[in-house]
Amino acid sequence: NRQWTLANRPVGAPTLGNFNFVESNKPSPQSGEVLLRTVFLSLDPYMRGRMNDAKSYAEPVAIDAVMLGGTVCRVEESNHPDYSLGEWVVSSSGWQDYAISDGVNLLKLGKNPTQPSYALGVMGMPGLTAYMGLLDIGQPKAGETVVVAAATGAVGSLVGQIAKLKGCKVVGIAGTDEKCRSAVEDLGFDICLNHKSADLGQQLAKACDAGIDVYFENVGGKVFDAVLPLLKTCARVPVCGLISQYNAIDLPQGPDRMFMLMGNLLFKRIRMQGFIVFDDYGHRYNEFRQEMSQWLKEEKITYREDLVKGLENTVESFIGLLEGKNFGKLVMRVGPD
Ligand code: NDP
Repeated sequence: NRQWTLANRPVGAPTLGNFNFVESNKPSPQSGEVLLRTVFLSLDPYMRGRMNDAKSYAEPVAIDAVMLGGTVCRVEESNHPDYSLGEWVVSSSGWQDYAISDGVNLLKLGKNPTQPSYALGVMGMPGLTAYMGLLDIGQPKAGETVVVAAATGAVGSLVGQIAKLKGCKVVGIAGTDEKCRSAVEDLGFDICLNHKSADLGQQLAKACDAGIDVYFENVGGKVFDAVLPLLKTCARVPVCGLISQYNAIDLPQGPDRMFMLMGNLLFKRIRMQGFIVFDDYGHRYNEFRQEMSQWLKEEKITYREDLVKGLENTVESFIGLLEGKNFGKLVMRVGPD
């Protein structure tokens, strides 16, 4: 059983030296347990936060523990009455080939799911995040302008497409010209701007000439600086993630902008609300699943996966995720076909 464990806590960007690749015997399930073979492993930005020993909404990964992560697995041995051999399940087995489960918190996908890895993306946690964050907190209305960064990523690509389904004008922000092109041509966004352009603020002001009604916050940093002055009165800002700051070790340079932020919130009566997807919306998973599967069936939603083969390549891929190297939802193919 190959496993990636946390060797030590990163300062700044994670490196290969923060992890150990260890090998041990395949575990054996006891009575009431199943042996799960990892087939797909989801890599997500929140994992960077779990590497820190800081108080947060969830416990950090312990030193020498297996890195955590959502997985899609097949039941390889079963001593559990509810699970049979070959069945597919969604689990949180982490960065390893095999795991033992007592069946609690497994989600069944059946014997022959058509796209099992979608359960880690469009039909899973990132999908629910985009759907609830945009619709419940952002409350977009037809004709409004919605802005989202990390626009071709797991969450952002769905936020923009759902906003288009609701009749909004959608402005994406992404990290390469190729991603920007794809956001417009493949995902149907109206415009997509490269956040590495020196004049992002001017470009965004031009693209959002009527102001911004909903800003779905995925990244923070200089993208938020460009967005803030363009937010309209009564704008909504679902605060989903701040990926540009996850590796930060210092406060950003420049003057204290707290008054500018608070002043904008006050004078423009802006509603900014953070959320943690399963804590806040886990109970609405079925509602999301029904609507999203219908949209997929009707080809109203396009979904792009960035599938990387081999558990041994997990760390490199994870480091790349925090640098924008992924193009679409990043998933590791761990197990056999
Ligand atoms: P993505 O698939 O979007 O991948 C991350 C992307 O972030 C990169 O590809 C890159 O895209 C962008 N990025 C990285 N660094 C920067 C930077 N410095 N400035 C701007 N963009 C950057 O990831 P997800 O869709 O899984 O996650 C998106 C956000 O949603 C994250 O902040 C994540 O933490 C958050 N999240 C929050 C949840 C919640 O419950 N609140 C649940 C799930 C996700 P590009 O090249 O385009 O810049």
